[in-house]
This record gives sequence, structure tokens and C-alpha cells, in this order.
Amino acid sequence: MIPRPLNEAARLHALRAYQLLDTQADADFDLLTELAAELCGVPYSFVSLVDADRVWYKSSYGAKAVQTPRDEDYCSWAILEEQELLIPDLLSDARTATLPNTVQGGQFRMYNGVNLTTSDGFQVGVLCVLDTKAHALTERQLSLLRRLARQVISLMELRRMDRELKETLATVSRLANEDDLTGLKNRRAWMEEARQQLQLAKRLKTPLSVLVLDIDHFKKVNDAHGHPAGDAVLRGIGQLLSMCLRVTDIPGRLGGEEFAVLAPGTDAKGALQIAETLRNAIAQERIEDAGLTLQVTASIGIASMPAGLPDVDLDDLMRAADQALYSAKRNGRNCVVASDSVLRAATLA
Ligand code: GH3
Ligand code: MG
Ligand code: MG
Repeated sequence: MIPRPLNEAARLHALRAYQLLDTQADADFDLLTELAAELCGVPYSFVSLVDADRVWYKSSYGAKAVQTPRDEDYCSWAILEEQELLIPDLLSDARTATLPNTVQGGQFRMYNGVNLTTSDGFQVGVLCVLDTKAHALTERQLSLLRRLARQVISLMELRRMDRELKETLATVSRLANEDDLTGLKNRRAWMEEARQQLQLAKRLKTPLSVLVLDIDHFKKVNDAHGHPAGDAVLRGIGQLLSMCLRVTDIPGRLGGEEFAVLAPGTDAKGALQIAETLRNAIAQERIEDAGLTLQVTASIGIASMPAGLPDVDLDDLMRAADQALYSAKRNGRNCVVASDSVLRAATLA
């Protein structure tokens, strides 16, 4: 068995942070192995990553090998060295004379590997060149191989930073668009989506409806059971919205205890059906939280743009839906009111 470095656990951790193991071929790494082989005048070159039980090749030049058991690979000896492992004749070195690739298989005779060392000092892999003839590299070749190894580790760092940057951007964009409590779109993201969908609907001459939903007497939930119970209700309503709607309908939390649903392709009649379904589902929902069973109702205002009305803008629609919502509240709550003002305004214009 080939000895393991003393810092093996931390070394593996450092290797895995690159998330390179078992990834697809990458032309930039392949260029570096090709250059290494060409400059050293040998038929084989590998970028190898020394994993727990195997040596996995991020790039292989001259061979199709994907990986080798760790206890059979020259690179496992290389990473035990400070910087590099140079063996001009594999048969005359006790460490490598009996390894399978020396005596059978590839029948390699020469190995020169320069360690891929991370900025915090871990030897995670090797850039190596091999030959089936025993010989030493020239000083010039060795110096080029060392410089190429630095390029390999720089490329690994670059790939990692690129990935981390993308992940950070995805997180930032999620945080910017998502409501923390419910996971629904927040006001800004929902309004942005609504603006785009409205434009599309006008271009395609299809209808579009907006529902604005406000929980009734929500303040009483907070007053009677505390803010966390109120939060549980908001989360529950958020889930209910996601569950009850069609995939094309887009729910959002406008703020506080006010939600909205965008229903593209839906006229006033269809919107009324959606709203009644939601209103019923909410009234029947029992939200369990910390041993309490909470029950609320909601009022809903609807504004619809019929097909082929080019003058309606989102502010008109939102204003009309808000007014309908106030009417629903005045009508005694737990009810749905559809506005006819959008249609009227458009007809007057
Ligand atoms: P109405 O039927 O007229 O809508 O009455 P209401 O009590 O629902 O409306 P009101 O605007 O008087 O109160 C809304 C309450 O919602 C007040 C506010 O403290 C509470 N609220 C707003 N945001 C949150 C939140 O994120 N969590 C909790 N728990 N409460 C919130
Ligand atoms: Mg309310
Ligand atoms: Mg409100």
C-alpha cells in the first residue's frame, strides 16, 4: 500500500472543494496536457487528482484512462513529495518497479510529475508526463513542466471562482425576488412579472386577470395568538396559493397580509372561478401552529383585461383590483368582488 499524507483528511476536503472529480472533459485542461507531452517530447500526460481510493484524470493525453486505483498509481507517490517526483527509470525505483503499469499494461518506464499545490498548501493532484522509454527530462523541459503545473492549478482556481460567483449570483437574485416568509415572489418581482405578462397579453390579444387577496381581521390573529402565529398563517396561505393555482397562475406576496395572483389568459369569468376556489380553500383551511389551530378568511378583488384592449396598463389594473377588494371588505369580508372599471375606462377612452 502506498502511504497516505499526514494531512489526508484536510487534503481530500481541499480537493473536493474544487468539485472537479467526475466532471466532463474540458478543452482548457486538455490543452495543458497536450502542451506538457509535446514540450517534454513524451507520448503521455495526465492531470490527475488524487482522491481517497483512486487517482482520477481530469485530462489524459495519449491514453484513454479515466482513473486508476490509488495504490497502483505513480501520482500517489508524487503527492508525498514537497514539489515533484522525478523517476527516469521506473524499474530501478523500489516504489514503482512492481506497480502494474510498470510490469504489465502500459509498461511505463519513465514518470515525471509536478504536484498541483493549492494556495493553502495541499497537494491535491499532479501534472505528470510518462514514457515507455527510460530517460530523464532536460532542465528546460522540467522548468516548462513546473510552469504548466502552475497553470493547471490556476485553471482549477478559476473554474472554482467562476462556479462560486454563479452560485452567489443565484442566491442574491433569489433573495432579491423571493419573499422570506412564504417563498412566493415578493412585491417587486411579482410586479415585474405582471408588467411583462401584461405586455405579452396585449401583443397576443389574450385576456389577463389580477386578483388581490387580503386576509380578513388578520390583526386579531396577531393580537390573540402573537406574531409567530400570524407568521404561520401567512406561510399557510402562501402554501395554499401555490397548491390551488394552475401552473400558469403566478402568486406573490405584495406585503403584510396581502397577496396577489396573476392569471394570464384568464378573463373575468375564469378569474371569478379561481377567486371563489381560493376563498373557499382558505375558509376551510385549518393551520396548525404550536398546538393552536388557526382559521382565517380572505377577501378578494379582481380586475380583468378582456382580450384585445391595448390601453390598459398595470397601474389601472392594480387600482381596479384594489377598489374591488375594498368593496369586498365593505360587503362583509370573506367574499369576492370583480371590478368592471377597467372595461368601462377602456370603453370610454
Ligand atoms: P382587514 O380585514 O380590514 O384587512 O383587517 P386586518 O386586521 O387584516 O388589517 P389591518 O391592516 O388592520 O392589519 C394588518 C395586520 O397585519 C397588521 C400587521 O401587524 C400585520 N402584519 C403585517 N405583516 C405581518 C407579518 O409579516 N407577520 C405578522 N405576523 N403580521 C403581519
Ligand atoms: Mg387584512
Ligand atoms: Mg391589508
